[in-house]
Formats: sequence, structure tokens, C-alpha cells
Amino acid sequence: MGSNVNLRYGLVGSMGKMGREIKDYFSTFGDKLVFETDRDYINESGRPDVIIDFSSPTALVSTIEYCKKYCAGLVIGTTGLNEEDFDKLKELSQSVPVVQSYNFAEGVNILKEILEMFGSYFDGWDGAIVEIHHNQKKDAPSGTAIMLKNSLGRELPISSLRIGGIFGEHTVIFSNAGEVVKISHTALSRRAFAIGVRKAALFAMQAEKGFNSYRDVLRNSGNH
Ligand code: NAD
Repeated sequence: MGSNVNLRYGLVGSMGKMGREIKDYFSTFGDKLVFETDRDYINESGRPDVIIDFSSPTALVSTIEYCKKYCAGLVIGTTGLNEEDFDKLKELSQSVPVVQSYNFAEGVNILKEILEMFGSYFDGWDGAIVEIHHNQKKDAPSGTAIMLKNSLGRELPISSLRIGGIFGEHTVIFSNAGEVVKISHTALSRRAFAIGVRKAALFAMQAEKGFNSYRDVLRNSGNH
């Protein structure tokens, strides 16, 4: 399904930083926001085909109820979900398509695929991941750095820097005695996530029921 299709979407956490970015980006395509909710706020003006949740794990139960009520697919980027939350999402995915990712930046997901495919060529090399984020980010190492390490299937040191306003940089470095290979991703702004979220929403609009990661979106979008 092309990006020229219009979405009728719902948004949970619509007043948050990501919520505002998603509204702003989606509006450039003429998509219609027909349902939005935030803490102590709700506006239902139509039936969404897909619901997007970038809020808090505390919203999950009601988000799932809304997906069932509207028979709408779910795209969820909210972090900090526990095992029980994932069970609830899996249960929902038995009736509608669900796309869950802790990082909707497409480039990060492509980088992960590259590491899964070619990482074993670097067996025997030293490896490390350096991640740099703005000084407001609380967790270290970043979830994305851990995800990239896991995609290599080997232990690597992760070095985390928190400095200024840097939005998000991940560099995977391999080195042997004679050479260095660096593979790097930089998120320039929240737009990086909004672009991936819209692709995931278009995917969810036409997908069968089931639980999906961003890899399924990539596989479907002609990006491979
Ligand atoms: P934010 O704090 O700016 O926004 C969160 C919004 O959700 C707020 O407006 C808040 O009032 C609202 N909210 C909280 N509890 C709610 C509830 N029970 N019901 C409805 N609304 C509720 O945060 P943000 O930067 O926009 O991030 C939101 C979430 O998305 C976080 O979990 C963050 O880690 C995650 N995130 C994920 C990705 C990704 O690619 N997966 C990228 C960025 C942020």
C-alpha cells in the first residue's frame, strides 16, 4: 500500500512529544485523526482504521479496548512494557494486526538487519557500540544499543555518552590489527520515528491479524 493512501487513525498520547510529531507529519499526507486520547482527555469523532499508541504502559488496557471496539489494528511504540503487557498485545493480535517496536526509525531497523546478515563476518574482530544522546535521556545504555548488540549475537562493550541536545547516534565499530569498519545511524529529529510509524500504520491497515515487528513492515514495503 503506497504512502499516497489516506489514513483514518486514532492516537493515544496525542499531546505528548511523539503524539504531536505524528499529528504534524501525518497531516502533510491529509490523514484524518478521528480519535485521540491523552491523560484526562478524549475526542472520538469517527472510526479509526488503525490506532497508534505512544504514551505510557498505563494506557495499554484502554488502548486494547479501543482497538477491539473499533476492530482497528494497533501500532505501539510505547516503551517499558512488561511480559504481561506483551501477553495482552499477543492476545489482541489474535483478532487484529499489531505492530510493536521500541524503535520505529527505519534506518535503525535496516542497520539491525545488516548486522544480523553480515555480523558473523566480524567474528574474530574486536567490536564495540558507542551511543550518544542528549543530556535529558535517563537510561543508559539505550534500548536501541542493546537491540543492536543482540542482533549480533555476541557480547560487545557499549559506551554511552549524554551530552547537549544530540537526538540519537549509534555507531557499531569493528577493528582488527589493520583496519576499522564503522556503521553509524543518526536520528536527526523525532521525524525519524514518525516516518516509520506511518509506514507501520499503512502496513497494519492491510495486514492480516497477527503480531508484527518493524521487520515485517520493512519486508512488506519494497525496501529490501
Ligand atoms: P511524552 O511524555 O512527551 O508523551 C507521553 C504522552 O502520553 C503525554 O502527553 C501523557 O500525558 C500521555 N499519557 C500518559 N499516560 C497516559 C494514559 N494512561 N492514557 C493516555 N495518555 C497518556 O513522551 P514521548 O517522548 O512522546 O514518548 C511517549 C512514549 O513513546 C514513551 O514510552 C517513549 O519511550 C516512547 N517512544 C518510543 C519510540 C519508538 O520508536 N518506539 C520513539 C520515541 C518515544
